[in-house]
Amino acid sequence: MPLYKTDALILRTYKLGEADRIVVFLTRDRGKKRGVANGARRARSRFSGALEPLTRVGVTYFEREQRDLVRLSYAELQCSPLLAAPEALSHVGYFAELIDEWAQDSDPNERLFRLGAATLDALAAGVPTPALARYFEYWLLRLQGVYPPPLACHRCGSAFDRDEPGAWLEPGGHVLTCARCAGAGPGEESGRLVRLSGDALAFLGLAGRIPPLELGTWRLAPSVDRELEAVHRALMRVHLEKELRSVRVLRDLRR
Ligand SMILES: [Zn+2]
Repeated sequence: MPLYKTDALILRTYKLGEADRIVVFLTRDRGKKRGVANGARRARSRFSGALEPLTRVGVTYFEREQRDLVRLSYAELQCSPLLAAPEALSHVGYFAELIDEWAQDSDPNERLFRLGAATLDALAAGVPTPALARYFEYWLLRLQGVYPPPLACHRCGSAFDRDEPGAWLEPGGHVLTCARCAGAGPGEESGRLVRLSGDALAFLGLAGRIPPLELGTWRLAPSVDRELEAVHRALMRVHLEKELRSVRVLRDLRR
């Protein structure tokens, strides 16, 4: 039975029998895996503290051909999301759920692993969550090839002006257009179109160039945060065809 040793991010776990857990994790080199962690629910377990969502671990597991479930033999804690500030903890499950939704079983995706690991490091270092969440969503959607290029209008090709009026996401979520092509007046908001202001586009330009740790203490203006969030939610709804459980949880927490 082949034995594998690699870095991984824990995505979620669920109970199995009296004492065990099924663990869903994203490996650096072999995609998403599901494995049994024997005895993980016992008080003194060799997995204790290492199976929280978004924890980065060094895992050792056995995998047999034709079996969906691998067997985890060890998970060594490398970085825990519990190091993050209390107000950031509400986002941990959100990041983990998004990675779980987009990662494919046994389909290697090292860039997704690196995005998750870098996001964890930034969380643990205290990077504020609104900026980090929008950064993470932007890159996640970009890696999946579903983020419309935020540089120029899809219809007429004119570069988006960093000043007003910005860019509009067309219904269906596949392209960003300028105000003229969107048929929107300056500052117009309608249920049909979602707008990104010049400041939101500037944030995307920055996010495209730097690792998340360099967001440092970046404070997104609440209005810019809302615009980016609205566009990212719309893109996720189109491409996942559902709303995530953790999105509802975050919304409830905000009420
Ligand atoms: Zn245009």
